[in-house]
Amino acid sequence: MKPSDKALVPFVSVDHMMQLIHHVGLEEMIVGISEEIENDFKRWESFDKTPRVPAHSPHGVIELMPTSDGEAYGFKYVNGHPKNTSEGLQTVTAFGLLADVYTGYPTLLTEMTILTALRTAATSALVGKYLAPKGATTMAMIGNGAQSEFQCLAFKAICGIDTVRLYDTDPAATAKCAANLAGKGLTVITCTSGEEVIQGAQIITTCTADKKNATILTDNMIGAGVHINAIGGDCPGKTELHRDILLRSDIFVEYPEQTRIEGEIQALDADHPVTELWQVMTGAAKGRKDAQQITLFDSVGFAIEDFSALRFVKKAIKGTAYFEPLDMLADPDDPRDLFGMVQRSK
Ligand code: NAD
Repeated sequence: MKPSDKALVPFVSVDHMMQLIHHVGLEEMIVGISEEIENDFKRWESFDKTPRVPAHSPHGVIELMPTSDGEAYGFKYVNGHPKNTSEGLQTVTAFGLLADVYTGYPTLLTEMTILTALRTAATSALVGKYLAPKGATTMAMIGNGAQSEFQCLAFKAICGIDTVRLYDTDPAATAKCAANLAGKGLTVITCTSGEEVIQGAQIITTCTADKKNATILTDNMIGAGVHINAIGGDCPGKTELHRDILLRSDIFVEYPEQTRIEGEIQALDADHPVTELWQVMTGAAKGRKDAQQITLFDSVGFAIEDFSALRFVKKAIKGTAYFEPLDMLADPDDPRDLFGMVQRSK
């Protein structure tokens, strides 16, 4: 077989992902991924589901996140190392793969560090569309690190907010986030405390990184009617909210089996009632019921969101130059003659 006949796997590098985002448009891409996620959540029962597989260490966690809808299979490799930023490294990096269930052959390999930020933002804002109070205009963004700008722009594009209030324990992170959001169609207000940042916000996003049970929000900070989008607590022993807030909130989760291990609700009894988001999206369960209700998205990030994002990218790169073909499939002339193929290359 000539090398040109080989089955090659499209690979999207970090550089190509950035070019793809500029080609599609950042907000358009977040909206597109959110539509894929919504469609996939609405056919939740057609997916294989399992809590992600973690390898914990004192330094952080490395996780594998697999799922399949019977036709395509996907997984993401992702890490979470809060100490990394002090060493000039990122807290979260990732890559992912799609494969054809019929042959088992991979059909896409891609960077997912940027894609994770997009899919996390897409999921948050999609959930916000169902749960945030009607007419919400202002979001408090607590934790102004790598995910933060994507979150703010997703809530603008999908939920129609026009103002973000920023707070981070590191003022340099807030300054970075504010500078990146300048000219992006949002009124940006920088704040110097948790108490200040939540003033007038109908949506509160917590996206901090610390491998401990932190208290980013205390009970007295949460008034009636707000929607809390809690993203940062996503590991055993790594949470952001005071337990009393959970007891006053209606809690919405991706996949309870995983969230009970990793989410804010690890602080609650194992049978504490939660609502599954896919049921809200199909109409089987209620989302926001009234203006007084406190809704909490206890986000940990689930494999189906990555699967949806991978499928979005697979379609989006078609007919573009934003990928390179990778030689990662052996192609013996006789499928059983792998040895002969090695000889052939001499
Ligand atoms: P990052 O390290 O780039 O940013 C985290 C920011 O939080 C930093 O700027 C830090 O100064 C700030 N911070 C830490 N403690 C704080 C506190 N007490 N109050 C205010 N700010 C504080 O990390 P990132 O990539 O933005 O990720 C943030 C968190 O979100 C991580 O814990 C990560 O694991 C999690 N995450 C969750 C999902 C999901 O799907 N739920 C997806 C991606 C990342």
